[in-house]
Amino acid sequence: MIRHLNVRTSKRTEFVDITQDIQALIDDSGIKEGVCYVYVPHTTAAVTINEGADPSVKRDILMMLEKLVPERAGYAHMEGNSDAHIKSSLIGASEVIIIEGGRLQLGTWQSVFFCEFDGPRHRRVVIKIVGD
Ligand code: ZN
Repeated sequence: MIRHLNVRTSKRTEFVDITQDIQALIDDSGIKEGVCYVYVPHTTAAVTINEGADPSVKRDILMMLEKLVPERAGYAHMEGNSDAHIKSSLIGASEVIIIEGGRLQLGTWQSVFFCEFDGPRHRRVVIKIVGD
């Protein structure tokens, strides 16, 4: 089955923890064993799995992305958001997470983050849950 999550971002760049929203969709699905595809259908956003316990980790990732890909660097793209497009490709548009016992098989410190690079906006995440 396919589901959507709506994500409302509030800053130009930010990581939004969507782990519990995805788990809620799996709970609703009743699927106990399988895989969950998380897909971001946007060109200036992404999805990643990383540490959710210490919020300074996501701040450090965003800080280094900003250093690697500054907002202004003489880009050709007229819309003025090339840095967001580049960050989207660096981080990637999808993740796959294994479901076992009805739970996302994430590590103790892992969370799933929607990555906003050109907000604030209303965003959508496509979730596909496939049972064994
Ligand atoms: Zn653009």
